Amino acid sequence: MSIEPAAIAALRATLRGTVLLPGEAGYDAARVVWNGMIDRRPGAIARCHGVADVIDAVKFARAHGLLVSVRGGGHGVAGHAVCDGGLMIDLAAMNAVRVDPAAQRAWAQGGATWGDVDCETTAFGLATPGGLISTTGVGGLTLSGGVGWLRGSAGLCVDNVMSADVVLADGRMVHASATENPDLYWAIRGGGGNFGIVVMFELRLQPVAPLLMLCNALYPEARAAELLPLWRDFMQTAPKQVSSLAQFATLPDDAALPPHARGQRILALAAIYDGPADEGERVLAPLRHFGTPLHDLSAKLPYRTIQQLYDPMFPKGRDRAYFRSLYFPALDGELIAKIAACAGQRPSPMDQASVWHFGETVRGVAADATAFGDRSQPWLFSTDAFWSSADDDAANIGWVRQSWEVLRPHSNGRLYTNFLAGHEGETGVVRNGMGADIYDRLARIKAKYDPANFFRLNQNIPPA
Ligand SMILES: Cc1cc2nc3c(=O)[nH]c(=O)nc-3n(C[C@H](O)[C@H](O)[C@H](O)COP(=O)(O)OP(=O)(O)OC[C@H]3O[C@@H](n4cnc5c(N)ncnc54)[C@H](O)[C@@H]3O)c2cc1C
Repeated sequence: MSIEPAAIAALRATLRGTVLLPGEAGYDAARVVWNGMIDRRPGAIARCHGVADVIDAVKFARAHGLLVSVRGGGHGVAGHAVCDGGLMIDLAAMNAVRVDPAAQRAWAQGGATWGDVDCETTAFGLATPGGLISTTGVGGLTLSGGVGWLRGSAGLCVDNVMSADVVLADGRMVHASATENPDLYWAIRGGGGNFGIVVMFELRLQPVAPLLMLCNALYPEARAAELLPLWRDFMQTAPKQVSSLAQFATLPDDAALPPHARGQRILALAAIYDGPADEGERVLAPLRHFGTPLHDLSAKLPYRTIQQLYDPMFPKGRDRAYFRSLYFPALDGELIAKIAACAGQRPSPMDQASVWHFGETVRGVAADATAFGDRSQPWLFSTDAFWSSADDDAANIGWVRQSWEVLRPHSNGRLYTNFLAGHEGETGVVRNGMGADIYDRLARIKAKYDPANFFRLNQNIPPA
């Protein structure tokens, strides 16, 4: 990027926030995103403090023909929040959340994290579905779907977006709701950051009990082929308040764990019950008694604490990461055996492989109601590689891709775009992953709202 110093000075004079250039204090910290593989150097970083700053940053980038990246929570595994050479529009300082307890609504700015939202909403005994890590951004997670602990009772994040304020590629801000710009409202509930910068989300809230039962029963991984069918059968008849995932992982060598569990490869059966904790304890009890777990970390905890429980495992910028996912219509014995075999080959002790269950609340939403698309598949499988050294890139990325190829014949080819890292050199991954009908409809809406593909650093849908 080459911009006249006078133009940067003018941008600085316009913004309430700051503009950071390479070499300046704060620049290097601001360009760090969650995935430690991503090391990009924007030509400038606009740290926006409000909608006016976002509008000015967009207009500035257009006027100077700059590539733009948008940073919400900075957690995107693909690293799209930061660009090389262009303008990074950084929303991190726009993290205010307002709650209307009577209306059971929250308004979250585009750079808020789920930790920001949970803090404000649970103060009123309310919650909305987020992800499983509190440092993840509301922006990226919601715009592509949003799968969290409350999906059993409240669905995906997109199912709880009532409206949004969106700054478009031409610098105009528009409101998107069921009655205003309904095509844009449909598109931002699954189509990612393709359509503009969401500066405000209006989210539906629901009451949450003071304590929820979290089941976290850790079984030896060697029992996976026996346990996954038991878990599957349990989930198929579980009440809708139950949200669960089965996760292959390796326990750390941590003094907080009993000696026999440290460093062990496990299958964790994790679940929450969205209701009174005592009731949840009874409902979830079977998951904790499929024989004797290696260790049982189940507990009754506030929702906000559950949301922060895994945060220490995922610090910003430390680990390298690569994710990919698939949806499955059924978990039969052959597929379970293949999943266990793929998970068993994970090369790093930090790697994880998870099966997430989508219950009737998620699946009950029509395929064309949101750009998230088809909900008919009850099982979302994700291979999530995390490792420390660049020397191990090939082994970890190879494991994710190899597992995906082995398991893909059991799926309809759809995937969750929030669990998708690079797919260079492969054509059609995003189109097949979203579903061709959804993708093509999104491409037509993109042509209306962003015909020049100004917002292209994302799981991109070029304009039709
Ligand atoms: C450790 C880890 C755990 C995760 N857990 C979950 C989980 O439990 N459930 C789940 O569903 N997903 C999960 N994810 C995936 C997560 O949803 C995505 O990584 C998501 O993109 C992160 O959003 P962000 O705003 O933090 O990311 P960013 O990197 O800031 O943004 C990602 C994309 O969204 C766009 N974007 C962000 N904010 C805005 C905005 N306000 N307006 C317009 N575009 C915007 C960006 O431009 C970029 O293209 C997890 C990811 C990681 C790394």
